[in-house]
Amino acid sequence: MQPTHSAEAQAYREKVRAFLSETLPSNWRGVGGLCGDDVAGFEREWRSTLFEAGYLAPGWPKEYGGGGLSPLEQVILAEEFTKAGVPTGGSNDAFSIGMLGNTLLMWGTEEQKREYIPRILSGEHIWCQGYSEPNAGSDLANLGTRAVLDGDQWVINGQKIWTSAGQLADHIFVLCRTDADAPRHKGISFVLVDMRQPGVEVRPIRMMSGESEFNETFFTDAVAPKDNIVGGVNNGWAVAMTLLGYERGEAAAKVPLRFRAELDRLFELARSRGLSNDPLSRQRLSCCCSKVRSMQSRSWRQLTQCRCGHRRRWYGSIFKLYWSEYHQVVTELAVDILGADALVPEGRRPTTAFQTDDVGAPNSTGSWTTVFLNARAGTIYAGTSQVQRNILGEMVLGLPKEPR
Ligand SMILES: Cc1cc2nc3c(=O)[nH]c(=O)nc-3n(C[C@H](O)[C@H](O)[C@H](O)COP(=O)(O)OP(=O)(O)OC[C@H]3O[C@@H](n4cnc5c(N)ncnc54)[C@H](O)[C@@H]3O)c2cc1C
Repeated sequence: MQPTHSAEAQAYREKVRAFLSETLPSNWRGVGGLCGDDVAGFEREWRSTLFEAGYLAPGWPKEYGGGGLSPLEQVILAEEFTKAGVPTGGSNDAFSIGMLGNTLLMWGTEEQKREYIPRILSGEHIWCQGYSEPNAGSDLANLGTRAVLDGDQWVINGQKIWTSAGQLADHIFVLCRTDADAPRHKGISFVLVDMRQPGVEVRPIRMMSGESEFNETFFTDAVAPKDNIVGGVNNGWAVAMTLLGYERGEAAAKVPLRFRAELDRLFELARSRGLSNDPLSRQRLSCCCSKVRSMQSRSWRQLTQCRCGHRRRWYGSIFKLYWSEYHQVVTELAVDILGADALVPEGRRPTTAFQTDDVGAPNSTGSWTTVFLNARAGTIYAGTSQVQRNILGEMVLGLPKEPR
């Protein structure tokens, strides 16, 4: 199946392609072709190019600095950027723009939008997510970080954990308990906190890949202005759920293309190891191929449904469940193909712990084994597979609610 687009949409695709060929070097192969400091340097410059061109938040209204693009144009943009192997934003923009910015546009007061949105876009504020705690992950409503109003500011005490890219951020959106006597979901507020203060401490956690991309975040009498609550005091649960919808759902346009590029690289690896005629390897490769195709079809279907106004919270759950489980299968296959070489990883490693390696990355053992290890986390972050199945069971299949 190949979707056909209108002449207007095709013209928009050409416009994006022209932008890419004007702004990228002629020998460009994708970020995966860069190493070491060149990656960070490119990403910094590329983010400002996107900012100046109005491509950083393509779906936002123009009055807030967005591109005002239609859902189809946004998908075309994401597709072309992914094929070209360039990011759609900077390292923390999944949190800053994808999660917080979108949520502020929906729930923020006009003052909050005017204060934060321009700073998010310019990169003056870099955000991370403070939801999970040692005793509150899947059961997020169990969170214990407290915010108490003292005069005109909130005083925050508690601990968050697994704060991705917290070491790069200077702001954090924090779910806090603001009414200890209310029912669990009703006494929570969504607070915007400046991390550049003595009461906020970020401690890195070492992952099994050896990298440290997430952290513990401690709040000891940290403060936030009284007006820094989004969506109203004790209404944070509804705001938090809106944000999770963005966290799980926005990837549909990019993920199948990134996985397709990754799979092509795996075909290449199998060929180079003389396994392209091995029946068992062929069977496993074709199974992965059909899963990527099915993901692509689902993403087109989701786009069509969104364009017809059928946006459902659980679309993101289906997609997240599917890609994260697929990614463990394909990376296990890669490690099997590498055999004993996987025990001594060498060469360029991925620049991020999330999803695949960058488009254009070399077929190094360092790349595949690190992605293999990182893929274990895919079925945990942004809601575990079990939690997604609970959501789908209840919301789509109409099964009885799980006992509390
Ligand atoms: C790489 C990575 C990055 C992350 N980044 C962030 C971040 O930036 N900010 C942030 O706030 N959090 C972040 N997280 C945390 C993530 O959201 C939690 O790990 C996740 O919600 C699961 O919570 P938990 O780890 O406490 O596991 P638990 O909730 O304790 O779950 C343990 C096991 O029990 C199962 N389980 C739990 N409840 C149920 C149920 N009701 N029904 C069936 N099975 C159930 C789970 O599926 C899981 O298998 C990150 C996690 C990872 C791995």
